[in-house]
Amino acid sequence: MTQLDLIIRNGRVVTEAMDAVADIGISGEKVVQIGGEMNAARAVDATGKLVIPGGIDAHVHVTSQPGKQPPRWVDDFTSGSAAALAGGITTIGNMTQVTPDETPLQGLAREAEQARREAIADVLLHPIFGTAGEEMLADVPQLLEQGHNSVKYFMSTPVFDGQAANYLELTRLAGEHDLITLIHCEDFPLIQEATRKLVAAGKSSLRYYAESRPVISEVVATQRAVAFSEETGAPVYIVHLSCERALEVCAEAQARGLPVYVETRPFYLHLTSERFAEPDGAKYVGQPPLREPSDVDAIWAGIRQGTVNTVCTDHAPWSLADKLDPELSVENLRPGAENLQVMLPMLYSEGVRAGRISLQRMIQVLSTNAARLFGLYPQKGTIAPGSDADIAIFDPDETLTIDATMLKSNADYSVYDGWEITGWPITTIRRGEIVYENGHLTGAPGTGILPRRGPTMAL
Ligand SMILES: [Zn+2]
Repeated sequence: MTQLDLIIRNGRVVTEAMDAVADIGISGEKVVQIGGEMNAARAVDATGKLVIPGGIDAHVHVTSQPGKQPPRWVDDFTSGSAAALAGGITTIGNMTQVTPDETPLQGLAREAEQARREAIADVLLHPIFGTAGEEMLADVPQLLEQGHNSVKYFMSTPVFDGQAANYLELTRLAGEHDLITLIHCEDFPLIQEATRKLVAAGKSSLRYYAESRPVISEVVATQRAVAFSEETGAPVYIVHLSCERALEVCAEAQARGLPVYVETRPFYLHLTSERFAEPDGAKYVGQPPLREPSDVDAIWAGIRQGTVNTVCTDHAPWSLADKLDPELSVENLRPGAENLQVMLPMLYSEGVRAGRISLQRMIQVLSTNAARLFGLYPQKGTIAPGSDADIAIFDPDETLTIDATMLKSNADYSVYDGWEITGWPITTIRRGEIVYENGHLTGAPGTGILPRRGPTMAL
């Protein structure tokens, strides 16, 4: 019998394809054996625990654009990794800001260097196309050979409408080269008009934030993204979808066989727009805004039915003071919130335990589907012989109240402070190494890698 490096004994191993009590044998960075006799230098007892694939949070912001003045997001790849690993997430997908004097490949190279220095979790990078001129598009055919399989753009900026034809061409070109296009779907002119009306009525306070970005602005932009996919045949991935009507647009497109994929984020599963009326309601500002209880129900149903393909955080951590700055208004925003560490526990507690979604569906939306779309399956997104040993050992019975002092992120608050959540990761293994155990981070900065990604796979 070969001597292995690590055995996880007696856990309930759950993946998209299996659910059984079994031992897992790990050699080096890989899972090599499930079940049967095995010996190893070290064993972890997982009796009574769930053993699940490490999460892939494909949408985070742990870097800011170089040269942008503070205040800004407070995490880097090290603190972002710490938050991720403490939350059972072993791979993070960062949005790479390409500066005006860089090409996408140059921006990626700069940020990859930073990630190799700082990261503990493994890292994917999505280059943001803030413009879509010829010099930007020229890099697209080389992205996959450089190990990247995605591009990102925003419909919510003043730039987009003036360059819509270029962005359509970017989407087509990306699809032709086996890349997936991530799109922020909100319509700039409609947001501008709604905001103008609020300001004219003396309602510029963030208490009115939800009204400044109405559902229709998300619906028309989502329709446009679907149209881009339909016209070009290219896959599109709608980031942080927030509402029932936009989900209906995507569900209809999916029913017609279009490669339209939907991401949502925890904000839209756990919170509604009445939060903006709280005295510190500005801490809930994100783009799109929080919506109504019927939207929350629709998005949970979308996860259950498979129209929502991934749940990712859009982790964009601020200090509470920066978030509650009285200078902020519907015209002057600091969108986003800390979320990496609590996404998986909350999806388990509020989703699986509450009977809204199955455990296997949770694993699909937190890991397996992202691995496929972002070119990493079956290296990641599952537990199987030959896969990376990216594993969360999860105690389904542990109850903790969320509190800012437990956060590994540099953010000093959680929008979920005070929520009692049952089900927490207790040990996280990244490529065979125990990097988080019993509240302590044991992995070192600089050990995370940027795995080489293959073509996007259809779901
Ligand atoms: Zn984002």
